[in-house]
Amino acid sequence: MERYGWNRTRTYAAGALALTALVAGCGSAAPEVPSGPPATGAGSPAASRPPAPTRTDPATPAADAAVAVWTKWNLKPLPPAPAPPADKPLKLTATGAVPVFSEVPTTDKVVFVTLDDGAEKDPKFVEMLTDLKVPVSMFLTRDIVKNDYGYFKPLKALGNHIHNHTTDHPAMSTKPAEVQKSEVCDAQAALTQQYGVAPMLFRPPYGDGAHTPALNTAVQQCGPRAIVLWRESMQIHDMQYQAADKKLKPGDIILAHFRGPKDLKGETMTQMFGELLSRIQEQGFAVARLEDYIKPPA
Ligand SMILES: [Zn+2]
Repeated sequence: MERYGWNRTRTYAAGALALTALVAGCGSAAPEVPSGPPATGAGSPAASRPPAPTRTDPATPAADAAVAVWTKWNLKPLPPAPAPPADKPLKLTATGAVPVFSEVPTTDKVVFVTLDDGAEKDPKFVEMLTDLKVPVSMFLTRDIVKNDYGYFKPLKALGNHIHNHTTDHPAMSTKPAEVQKSEVCDAQAALTQQYGVAPMLFRPPYGDGAHTPALNTAVQQCGPRAIVLWRESMQIHDMQYQAADKKLKPGDIILAHFRGPKDLKGETMTQMFGELLSRIQEQGFAVARLEDYIKPPA
């Protein structure tokens, strides 16, 4: 199986990140930040909203269709992402210690969306991503997705990559080295078998242990070539920001989850994701594909 490497000179982990990651990480009981707009009604956005107003300006049919697909989900279109950089800011090497990063060094006005765990398997979300073509990177936990690996295949078919998020979502630093290794390697094997591609990236649950030698060694032994954290964590209506100014920055990686009404105070996965896109749109950012900013090993 092909292995991937990362340029060791690019390491973006901050010491202060560890505590924040534990607070904001998936599975934690992070408090909701109720600063978003009011929740929209439950159920299908397409079914519960009035039709889009008829345009009167002389736009092209293609442009009209592009706007209409966002209107279907009651959203404003995001700016288009720029072309992927020819010189990838994150360069892979095949061997060596894996870097830890929570952002991509770029001046492009883009952010990256990551979706973790895989608990909620809402068909409406597949429809939403099929319509909107917003790129996401999925960090899947084997024992959370194994009851329906197939759910993620149409999301992958849209060009979205699947990465490693352990077998059963422990706080890695609480586990001995051999357990950490099995958590990474067993998930790597299962995801590779199911999806036909070896995950290139690893994310530890809660961000826990990301900077420890034991986890770094485990990841190296199992195949992923970087550990990916995040700068913002999506809740239900708004994000938790690590930056004091509570603003997105170019290259930020955003953490969100496959979550449904049970974990979102009754809101749906598509409502949460729509809120996320609205927070990004309001700040004028495009969503780019994380893997487009990564160079595989030569
Ligand atoms: Zn998680």
